[in-house]
Amino acid sequence: MSARTLYDKLWDDHVVAQRDDGSSLLYIDRHIVHEVTSPQAFEGLRLAGRKPWRADSVIATPDHNVPTTAKERASGVEGIEDPISKIQVKTLDDNCDELGIVEFKINDPRQGIVHVVGPETGGCLPGMTIVCGDSHTSTNGALGALSFGIGTSEVEHVLATQCIIAKKMKNMLVKVDGTLGEGVTAKDVVLAIIGEIGTAGGTGYAIEFGGEVFRAMSMEGRLTVCNMAIEAGARAGMVAVDDITIEYVNGRSFAPKGEQWHKAVDNWRKLQSDADAVFDRIVEIDGSSIKPQVSWGTSPEMVLPIDGFVPDPNTEKDQVKAGGIRRALDYMGLAAGQAITDIKVDRVFIGSCTNSRIEDIRAAAQIVKGRKKAANVKEAIVVPGSGAVKKQAEEEGLHKIFIAADLEWREPGCSMCLAMNADKLGDGEHCASTSNRNFEGRQGYGGRTHLVSPAMAAAAAIAGHFVDVREF
Ligand code: SF4
Repeated sequence: MSARTLYDKLWDDHVVAQRDDGSSLLYIDRHIVHEVTSPQAFEGLRLAGRKPWRADSVIATPDHNVPTTAKERASGVEGIEDPISKIQVKTLDDNCDELGIVEFKINDPRQGIVHVVGPETGGCLPGMTIVCGDSHTSTNGALGALSFGIGTSEVEHVLATQCIIAKKMKNMLVKVDGTLGEGVTAKDVVLAIIGEIGTAGGTGYAIEFGGEVFRAMSMEGRLTVCNMAIEAGARAGMVAVDDITIEYVNGRSFAPKGEQWHKAVDNWRKLQSDADAVFDRIVEIDGSSIKPQVSWGTSPEMVLPIDGFVPDPNTEKDQVKAGGIRRALDYMGLAAGQAITDIKVDRVFIGSCTNSRIEDIRAAAQIVKGRKKAANVKEAIVVPGSGAVKKQAEEEGLHKIFIAADLEWREPGCSMCLAMNADKLGDGEHCASTSNRNFEGRQGYGGRTHLVSPAMAAAAAIAGHFVDVREF
């Protein structure tokens, strides 16, 4: 067999049938379900008189619609004030109860954002094909898995058949060598990659992240990077399996045990691209040149290093790009040439499936420790990605550090990542956000999102404007 990439291997291992039109039937090992994209899928199954093909392959948890204040969470699903959110969460509960699907319900200590819960429970493992009705399912590729988001009709199809019809993507390698500077994190790396290749740079590709920087990166950092592969246009991102992967997975509740564990590890260690594998596109970036990043516009590719200046559309020769810059400046209320460090922030959001794991919470706590939130920052919330992250952070006393600095410590969920629950931006407000999307209105009507790392968000909360975390 000729040399293969990691993606080729994962694909080949799961093809059930090849079709004449170039598509394939792919077997799915793990299906993660949440309340937003599953109700119609379950209803479709019911109407067709079907049951899930393998209910034990499905793990469910509500995340988008769950409130994040302790008060509203106290009485579980019944305490959700927003009627639509309440119906969505309740519907997921009812469907999972009826069909015998494992669900981490609203006040289960394992509840959280699907893309945080999957890896941390060992529900998502190396070598698996993993789907969820949410585009950021790419996150799990960090484990050396083929993981991608699917639509509602596909959720029903996978529930019914355990398979999906898919066309193979092309192979892209994003290679970042060198050593990251102090204060430069996985989030800065992935924002810098998107700044370089653009939000369409990965369209049609599965991206493998390789090179010295990813080999040295923690699993949590890799999860952050793969989470944002979708923002670079790629449906899937992945990192080869190594000791860091195996150590991360070992002991997690759904991970194999005993003899099964040893067999699994032997197989997982083969999940790397062959040395002479051919990629359709290779992008190389010098990791040592990456600085802490801040997005200034309304697309993740509109990103600059912290010492940068907002672009001037009049100096952009490409008129389409110039128009995009003008529109973004107008929406964001920024002036051409303005220093990034001059942008004041009204709110700070530390959370989301990109940056709500324990390392993210620790990084933010380290910055705010012994300091106070700036007076102009109306609200700064820290939202752990899961009950497990919350518990760990509280055991380490991190919540007390945030509270002492006038930041709020919340219950797990998607929270202010998107305007689908009570946590929202006001019209015109600027937010330092550790989430992954800065589109118009993403965090609330008229809200202005700036994507940053947890440390940079924490530093902005203290300074009241964007500031180079390396100076803290
Ligand atoms: S945290 Fe944001 S991006 Fe992630 S699953 Fe929730 S809404 Fe989607």
